[in-house]
Amino acid sequence: MTYLPDFLDFSASILHQALRPGDLAVDATLGNGRDAVLLAESVGQAGKVFCFDIQEVAIHRARERLAAAGLLERVQIFRAGHERLTEHLPPESQGHVRAATFNLGFLPGSDRRIITRPETTLAALAVLLPFMAPGGIVSIAVYTGHPGGQAEGEAIAAWCGSLAPTIWRVARYEQVNKPVNREVLYLLERLGEKQASAKC
Ligand code: SAM
Repeated sequence: MTYLPDFLDFSASILHQALRPGDLAVDATLGNGRDAVLLAESVGQAGKVFCFDIQEVAIHRARERLAAAGLLERVQIFRAGHERLTEHLPPESQGHVRAATFNLGFLPGSDRRIITRPETTLAALAVLLPFMAPGGIVSIAVYTGHPGGQAEGEAIAAWCGSLAPTIWRVARYEQVNKPVNREVLYLLERLGEKQASAKC
């Protein structure tokens, strides 16, 4: 056991803490379904996780993983880019999503040329924010070791830095003595009205 968790484990523990039974969550990059299982377990039977991926192979693997865990009924899976999130989330879920995760890059064990891209990732983040509930958490796991990863990391860093501090608390977690394949976790928390006014 280590006291300082791996960046994905840290993300998982924060997302789990943010969720209660009955909550709504978004997995913006379904991939092999590991994150979706965590979210689906955390929202309980009465909750729902909206999941997005552009690759059929990812959806197939994730479905199998979720089915094996008995969690398929708690998820809704869309074969669509996360930038099209507003076409798929119920309008009444605006302001009610308690946790969302972006685990960027390529699908492990698949075509490494299919990657998340800064323009669509940033478009998705922009349309997601109005859906987040006060106290809601957005987790963004960034990988810089693959072609295109560095540029995406820089775009995410700049975007995170531009968010209004009266509405969003943004934190970064990374192992700073990892010289290659830098991995960075950004965590955004939507401040409640009380916290936001205390910041003014
Ligand atoms: N969350 C996954 C898990 O737990 O296994 C890992 C995700 S993997 C690192 C990144 C995924 O993002 C890939 O499956 C890829 O197909 C997907 N992706 C790429 N562009 C996308 C987009 N515009 N919208 C949604 N998913 C996308």
